[in-house]
Amino acid sequence: MAARIIDGKTIAADLRDKIADEVARLRAAHGLVPGIAVLQVGDNPASDVYVRTKSKAVAEAGMRAFDRKLPANTSEAELCDLVAKLNADVTVNGILVQLPLPPHIDSHKIIAAIDPGKDVDGFHPLNIGRLASGLPALVPCTPLGCMLLAKTVHASLAGLEAVVIGRSNIIGKPVAQLLLAENATVTMAHSKTRDLPAVCRRADLLVAAIGKPELVRGDWIKPGATVIDVGINRVAGEGAKSRIVGDVAYAEAATFAGAITPVPGGVGPMTIACLLLNTLRAACAQKGLPAPNL
Ligand code: NAP
Repeated sequence: MAARIIDGKTIAADLRDKIADEVARLRAAHGLVPGIAVLQVGDNPASDVYVRTKSKAVAEAGMRAFDRKLPANTSEAELCDLVAKLNADVTVNGILVQLPLPPHIDSHKIIAAIDPGKDVDGFHPLNIGRLASGLPALVPCTPLGCMLLAKTVHASLAGLEAVVIGRSNIIGKPVAQLLLAENATVTMAHSKTRDLPAVCRRADLLVAAIGKPELVRGDWIKPGATVIDVGINRVAGEGAKSRIVGDVAYAEAATFAGAITPVPGGVGPMTIACLLLNTLRAACAQKGLPAPNL
């Protein structure tokens, strides 16, 4: 059986189009132009690429970007002051601090300084607590993207056996919370899990967020299961070239799965689309407007 490919690139592009339409409507109806500030400290080539991609997406959605690149020797107090200014600025609806920060800055302290209503990365302790309590929250972008992809396959996730491999604060834990909120039966696996292949074989929905190239093999997949591969791993390719692979051995897994995300082109494109969605939702909430129905 050939698996259905969950085309994250197209799904993300559709979502971004809908967001742009909604932004145009809000601008016309309420004069509201959602704005996001991305703060970067120091030089990091990977972060530079990511921030540029984000800024382009923000502009294409018709939103305002207030990006700030600060020198590597920026102090924690200076960064806190900037966050406080952005918290108070009504034209800035979302604030994202690009991680990692230089070692002399406590990233937990900076994230906790962000107004939770502007925390479009969903990393503020208040949003983490709200998500864990089943309350409305700004939710981390990549986990939100995983859920949107899973829902393109399953009209309801209620009662599904879901296995999440990985328990990081930014991916595994929020994915598990979101799946629980959708009434899936959730198992969290990690590096100490015994007999990971057997645990995976129980899954109707398998989410791999491990950071280990192609760890999950084809015969770990329950026939017909949905596989969401969050992993982004650079491995040696032909000659001097490198290539990106996921945490799942895609070709093998696709012969067992009912539906599967490719890497690249699966979860990755959803992250920025979900950042735009969170910014739009934050802007509406701050203006007392109903949440957009996208
Ligand atoms: P992380 O913080 O390193 O967490 C990895 C998790 O995998 C940990 O919970 C770890 O278990 C578990 N793990 C490691 N080896 C394992 C093994 N052999 N068997 C079972 N579990 C194992 O990584 P992360 O930040 O969550 O990222 C995970 C992956 O997602 C990475 O490839 C990253 O590049 C990718 N990612 C993608 C996007 C996107 O937009 N698509 C965004 C962010 C991250 P322990 O807790 O026991 O150590």
